[in-house]
Amino acid sequence: MADLKAAEKSLKERGFAVRVFAAGKEAVEYLNSAIDGKTVGFGGSATVQELGIYEALAKHNETHWHWVNGPEERPVAAGAQIYIASANAVAETGEIINIDGAGNRVASMLYGHEKVYLVVGRNKLAPTYEEALWRARNTAAPLNAKRLERKTPCVVDGRCHDCKSPDRVCRALTVLWGPMTGMETEVVLIDQDLGF
Ligand code: SF4
Repeated sequence: MADLKAAEKSLKERGFAVRVFAAGKEAVEYLNSAIDGKTVGFGGSATVQELGIYEALAKHNETHWHWVNGPEERPVAAGAQIYIASANAVAETGEIINIDGAGNRVASMLYGHEKVYLVVGRNKLAPTYEEALWRARNTAAPLNAKRLERKTPCVVDGRCHDCKSPDRVCRALTVLWGPMTGMETEVVLIDQDLGF
């Protein structure tokens, strides 16, 4: 069972800002009040999509998301003041793990924004770094390959084979040990299963 309190404590010790919410609706209300009159870029995220964060913020911010408006939005989102995405896994010891194919999502977690928000459901938590890494590689990445209808072995059995397929979605892995220097990073933890 996910330990949100342990994750909150560890993330704060590493310098991340953290907010915890019982339900996604409250988290959306919080983001909607915290972000106003900004340029906002989005990374690909089923969590963000499920919660309708883009739709809420688009009413009073300049928003850019390739999932809504097409791939030409990627470089525009990269230059936004605020960036919003999720994570593939978060260890309750505070490491944030992501796997990416195109690289826009992880690049924006590393550089180029005033502030990054990572919206994370409880299903993304794992007790240790090793278990979080396993989750990112063997749960999140295969489901992402399936979503993208890739011809990779993980789509068949739901487990990573470290394939060398041209369809491979896993091109880079990042671990945030803390917020990047000069870029505030806030983790919005939600006690609800969200995304994959
Ligand atoms: S490396 Fe290949 S098999 Fe492993 S999760 Fe990524 S796409 Fe699937």
